[in-house]
Amino acid sequence: MAQYVWGYLPEYEKERDDILDAVDTVFRSGKLVLGPSVKAFEQEFAAYHGVEHCVGVDNGTNAIVLGLRALGVGAGDEVITVSNTAAPTVLAIDQIGAVPVFVDVHPETYLMNVEQVEAAITERTRCLLPVHLYGQCVDMAPLEEIAAKHGLPILEDCAQAHGARHYGRIAGSMGKAASFSFYPTKVLGAYGDGGATITSDDETEANLRRLRYYGMEKVYYVVSTPGYNSRLDEVQAEILRRKLTRLDDYIARRRVIAERYAEAFEGTDLITPALAPGNDHVYYVYVVRHQVRDRVIEALKPEGIELNISYPWPVHTQSGFAKLGYREGSLPVTEAAAHEIFSLPMYASLSDVDQERIVEKVQNVLAKL
Ligand SMILES: *Cc1c(COP(=O)(O)O)cnc(C)c1O
Repeated sequence: MAQYVWGYLPEYEKERDDILDAVDTVFRSGKLVLGPSVKAFEQEFAAYHGVEHCVGVDNGTNAIVLGLRALGVGAGDEVITVSNTAAPTVLAIDQIGAVPVFVDVHPETYLMNVEQVEAAITERTRCLLPVHLYGQCVDMAPLEEIAAKHGLPILEDCAQAHGARHYGRIAGSMGKAASFSFYPTKVLGAYGDGGATITSDDETEANLRRLRYYGMEKVYYVVSTPGYNSRLDEVQAEILRRKLTRLDDYIARRRVIAERYAEAFEGTDLITPALAPGNDHVYYVYVVRHQVRDRVIEALKPEGIELNISYPWPVHTQSGFAKLGYREGSLPVTEAAAHEIFSLPMYASLSDVDQERIVEKVQNVLAKL
């Protein structure tokens, strides 16, 4: 049985001329690091979000690291987030010596349960870090209320939510700053690593620009606060500029695929994604739930369908984070979901024909359980 080709290859075949032209444009520009393409992409990406500034960085993890540090978060400070996320969200907090504090997630959307946030605040809390997971936004109004009441900045992790909207507001425009990843599978993906942190706050922007450039003040090339070499690559920036013009098309296509799945599995035991109020979902991943998830996955393997789980091991249960002191059972909704969720293939270049084959095979497996 043919293996379906996931990822960027079908897209590359369609967009090859444009991508190669982007590479050639940079190679001929005479400037390979922090040149005109990074500058233009930063302006265009900020404009897409209706914010003042965008600082391109080398990946989405460092977009969070720099975002936190630019907001003044440092060693020993507590950052409230979720355990049901990609490990890099939590790694970024850990890398600057800050302490991640987890709240549980909502049982139907698997997004941060905002009702638990206020009780998690201590005198050491310095930042709230909601993750707009799977492609839809956390319930922001109550979170913003808590942030204002306690004088805490919000850093949005938008690595899975390019172009998602919440009551009309675009993801990344709601916090004091927001981080993005352009890892190739993301809704806006580069041809390699990339990331960005956006903000409308001038001081945060200045901090970000210094931190990604060794911590140097550009005028005298003096390190004022030790930083990183964390620059967005010029080639990736030029490719991202081209792809940003198509982002709304990629999202539209993902929504068509999501609708088809929802239709196909209506009335079955497979639970399709719940849309939270006010949200326009961009379906970075199409996360479904089934009581015997592992049997469904196993039965589809011989059919050439390899399914991913986002995420099989909540961060607080991973051995590398044992030091945080969470026990099994401390985040019951997160842990229960992790046993039953999995993802159906979802990417903008998935063809109708391939999706139909996948649907048919999943329906067959479900019927035989
Ligand atoms: C992908 C991802 C990241 C990390 O981005 P990289 O570019 O891989 O470093 C962070 N947070 C979330 C929620 C992600 O999905």
